[in-house]
Amino acid sequence: MKSGYTYIILLMSFMAVEGITQIMQAQITKDIPLIPAPVSMVKSAETFTLPAKTVIGYSHKDLAFSAEYLKDFYTFLTSKRVQSKYYKKERAKGTIAFVIDPAIQQDEGYSLKIDKKHIVITGKSPQGVFYGVQSLSQILFAQKRAGDLRTLPCLEITDYPRFLWRGLHLDVSRHFFDKEFVKKYIDILALHKLNTFHWHLVDDQGWRIEIKKYPRLTEVGAWRVDHEGLPWNERPVQQPGERATYGGFYTQEEIKDIVAYAAQRFITVVPEIEMPAHVSSAIAAHPEYSCRQVPIGVPPGGVWPITDIYCAGNDSTFLFLEDILSEVMELFPSKYIHIGGDEADKTEWRRCPKCQKRIKDEQLMDENELQSYFIRRIDKFLTEKGRILIGWDEILEGGLAENATVMSWRGTEGGIAAAGMHHNAVMTPVTHCYFDYYQSLDRHIEPLAIGGFISLEKTYSYEPVPEVLTGEEAKHILGAQGNLWTEYMLSGNHVEYMALPRAIALAEVVWTPATGKDYAGFLTRLENQLDLLTSKDIHYYVPSVEGLPDTTHFKDTIRVELVNPYPFGEIKYTTDGSEPTATSPIYRNPFYLNRDTVVKAALFLKNGCSGRVKTGIYRKI
Ligand SMILES: [Zn+2]
Repeated sequence: MKSGYTYIILLMSFMAVEGITQIMQAQITKDIPLIPAPVSMVKSAETFTLPAKTVIGYSHKDLAFSAEYLKDFYTFLTSKRVQSKYYKKERAKGTIAFVIDPAIQQDEGYSLKIDKKHIVITGKSPQGVFYGVQSLSQILFAQKRAGDLRTLPCLEITDYPRFLWRGLHLDVSRHFFDKEFVKKYIDILALHKLNTFHWHLVDDQGWRIEIKKYPRLTEVGAWRVDHEGLPWNERPVQQPGERATYGGFYTQEEIKDIVAYAAQRFITVVPEIEMPAHVSSAIAAHPEYSCRQVPIGVPPGGVWPITDIYCAGNDSTFLFLEDILSEVMELFPSKYIHIGGDEADKTEWRRCPKCQKRIKDEQLMDENELQSYFIRRIDKFLTEKGRILIGWDEILEGGLAENATVMSWRGTEGGIAAAGMHHNAVMTPVTHCYFDYYQSLDRHIEPLAIGGFISLEKTYSYEPVPEVLTGEEAKHILGAQGNLWTEYMLSGNHVEYMALPRAIALAEVVWTPATGKDYAGFLTRLENQLDLLTSKDIHYYVPSVEGLPDTTHFKDTIRVELVNPYPFGEIKYTTDGSEPTATSPIYRNPFYLNRDTVVKAALFLKNGCSGRVKTGIYRKI
């Protein structure tokens, strides 16, 4: 233990029962509001003042991007420039020094040390240093909020992630989002030390990736008739003569640009090329690879069930898919290639002579085993190319392909089954990780969503390793991921609103040791992060006020008690039926009503963002 330091290990303190440790821990959490919470942090009462001439020095060329990133952030905060300098051969000097140290054990690990003389970020790899930069950025931002950016607390952080796979997904098929938004989304991942972007490029309602060998996939498959004004599930299919004008796709050049942008931020882009189902867009372009071989249009909205899927009895289907996957592998260096595999309706396979012949020739039991045959064949192809197949948990049905990794979405059972068979799994259960679900019980004041309800606290409570797994099996749980299906999200702002702050909670789930999680502490730290997001023009959900019933009847008088779900921000309210604004009265204490009243209230954050207005109607009887 170094003298001069108040020695506090964040995680230990949660286990400690002494009140004083709790108070100190709460204070350190508030002062240094890092999200995700680091493995350990030691804070001193001493401070370090950034000099007027701050220099970022780095000792390895691969650290240049992190130096630029921190420079940009510093300029963003202060409008002042700092210098960066590359120190060849010698140990980096400067006010802020970046160092590579192979002695650090964890591949993505880093340490951040602020002492009275300088700041040093040490990583085992450039990736670790990048995460150290993210932590330092959060500290600088917190100091700015506190009014003195240049005076930093002396501290020492030792940190590394709990899981390898820290993912966020984006469906660009149901609605298309342009390259600039995809980059902004990647920025959001980077801010939270997430390292995997699962890019859902193919689905029924749009094929979004240019494939040179099959230009019709995007000429036809990327476009649908524009029924955006109608409810998702009530959109008529394309009629003869109707033009498909709604959609878009990424050229291969754009994809290379995005993949490189993500790689600079140590984010792997995992492409998803759906098969054998969720491919109406592909069949619209190439009906010859479906069982019926009948032309269909790209569905402009929800169609269920979708029975037109790839024909598993036709060898040319596999050649077509191998051609596509070959181009995909050229574009994406990711070890994992996601092939979907979910929700395949087998109606046409039951009727199709070719599919039935395949079942007979390959001595398969049924259509489930035919699906398994399909996935195994693709698994073999990807494995030969040195890649790993990952698919939704339906790929377990009829037998799991030899080298496959399972993405468990219908619950945790898929992940448990995979781990039990010594296959890897990524957990993304619909119970905690589906960020297209409502995040509030006040549905009627929220933008239309697909359904369900997953609160911030629910996501935060998620434990990716199911209890039933043995220690050995648990090693097969690679991590977890949040999914953003975009049937009901038409704009980037809306995607951000649905993703955040739940993705921030998930970031802590996949980074911070389980013993270090604490929802109350997380909420305390959240304010700093939300302010940071606002400063970067990133949108997020702000909760509605609790305690207001929609309509209630009372005799004589009734007590009204409003509750702010956050430990920050203020409730503002009105009792005259008008919409509350930033200048409305602040709610401080419960109050009483003795006549018919409409109470309207909303949560207002200091940064200007506010939650939706909740209305309570009180009727005296
Ligand atoms: Zn068939």
